[in-house]
Amino acid sequence: MTEGQQAKPVRKILIVGGGSAGWMTAAALARSLPREQCRITLLESDEIGTVGVGEATIPPIRQFNTLLGVDENDFVRATQATFKLGIAFENWSALGSRYLHPFGRFGADIGPLPFPSYWHALARANPAAAGSLSEYSLPAMAAASGKFCRPSPDPRNTLNNISYAFHFDAGRYARFLRGRAEDDGVVRIEGRVVEVPIDASGDVAGVMLADGRRIDADFFVDCSGFRGMLIEGALGTGYDDWRHWLPCDRAVALPTERVGSPLPYTRSIAGSAGWQWRIPLQHRSGNGHVFCSEFLGADQAEAELRAGVEGKPLADARLLRFTTGKRKKVWNRNVLAVGLAAGFLEPLESTSLHLVQSAITRLLALFPDRSFAQPDIDYYNATTATEYERIRDFLVLHYHATTRDDSPFWRHCAEMPIPDTLAERLALYRSRGRFFPVALDLFLEPSWVAVMEGQGVTPGQSDPMAGLQFDTMAALLPRIRGAVAQAVKAMPTHADFIRTTCAAPAADR
Ligand SMILES: Cc1cc2nc3c(=O)[nH]c(=O)nc-3n(C[C@H](O)[C@H](O)[C@H](O)COP(=O)(O)OP(=O)(O)OC[C@H]3O[C@@H](n4cnc5c(N)ncnc54)[C@H](O)[C@@H]3O)c2cc1C
Repeated sequence: MTEGQQAKPVRKILIVGGGSAGWMTAAALARSLPREQCRITLLESDEIGTVGVGEATIPPIRQFNTLLGVDENDFVRATQATFKLGIAFENWSALGSRYLHPFGRFGADIGPLPFPSYWHALARANPAAAGSLSEYSLPAMAAASGKFCRPSPDPRNTLNNISYAFHFDAGRYARFLRGRAEDDGVVRIEGRVVEVPIDASGDVAGVMLADGRRIDADFFVDCSGFRGMLIEGALGTGYDDWRHWLPCDRAVALPTERVGSPLPYTRSIAGSAGWQWRIPLQHRSGNGHVFCSEFLGADQAEAELRAGVEGKPLADARLLRFTTGKRKKVWNRNVLAVGLAAGFLEPLESTSLHLVQSAITRLLALFPDRSFAQPDIDYYNATTATEYERIRDFLVLHYHATTRDDSPFWRHCAEMPIPDTLAERLALYRSRGRFFPVALDLFLEPSWVAVMEGQGVTPGQSDPMAGLQFDTMAALLPRIRGAVAQAVKAMPTHADFIRTTCAAPAADR
């Protein structure tokens, strides 16, 4: 191609894999690209199936729904969803400990410093007057009372300060998106890839199916799950293994009947060599045990899970193996890996589906032509790598900042070397309670503060600036705390909110 000549546009996209990643990609691309100019095909294999977990999300998922033009109540009904205000971490910093990582900010903007700095100053001087940081978070207090409502549109109303996400049934979510993607022109093919031919230039040329069919495309999105059929199987891209920082490498999942009203938050309960999740849906509970195989056998992990769940199991327990880390390049030549094919950060903060969403947003911003410009691909890979690293650090914090020494696993976590980027953040916070966001941080100051405080990481001194404003803030804080308590009182219960706005039809359960 000569200078100034327009490169050929991508006309055929093949998405390999029909799990959440595949259908999220298909639905978003079909919404964004003109169907008469670009054909989108999704290939999946019922025989292989999907990973079938992935039920807890974080608030940006709502922007994804908006991109797709989804009505939120329809989506909640179709996926048996419940609302999520945060995650309760039990037994993480010490046996018997409990804290909530709520979505959204603490308190209010009352000065130049982030709100927690003022709280720290008061808490040091007068702990009873300050109360706990959670008492300044509407989502945290609502979660503790089993309450939920959507935010008030009025910024002066305390109820404006609600941030939320969902728990949903991953299989139903993929089906829901499939319906939308097919309506927007995506063609679904059932078949199993057995070979991935490479052309003379080294690009992927197409895929060969077990029944002898061959499907060619200009651009391939590898959503084939952990195997990474194209990105790894065909292109041998390589993988950064992060198990020395995030040692859990197995999970056993077991859905059960739901007992009691659905909680508006996820529970994460630390065990002897990992942790268990409890995810309330409308029609059942999702449960699982994430563990480190070096310290706990699969049978024992399943036994501990069964001993802890409430409600009758609805299916056989399912063992999943994974390696935390990421593909060295998520975009290689004419193949972009999305979802588990791109990497896996364990589900502790429900970030995987968000990483799918973020991969799609980045793809739309850097959509290629058939020359696959290397600077664009390099930028995509570099920003993705940074995004993963920032989340990795946040996850490592949960394991490392613990006083638990009751098992070899927790002693290992407390003593393991941590990334320098995390060590710097911890040192800064331990000094004067300061946290500064950097580019591509998914979790911002309120999340880091919630987890650091919850894990027992506290500042040695309060921020000097907060000390200078102490009297004003000491008078303001009780009012903010009171306003949060009042607002929670006015909220409906989570169960009532669902019943009156978005309950799934009984026949679907
Ligand atoms: C234990 C655990 C808990 C998790 N919890 C959460 C959570 O709470 N929140 C969250 O956001 N994420 C969570 N995740 C991650 C989440 O499940 C995934 O990110 C999400 O489901 C996307 O998976 P995927 O579509 O990439 O892969 P998969 O679901 O594995 O789908 C792969 C697809 O590729 C197809 N395929 C594979 N090989 C072939 C082939 N040879 N030919 C044709 N098709 C093929 C399969 O049929 C399937 O359709 C969790 C993951 C695990 C392991």
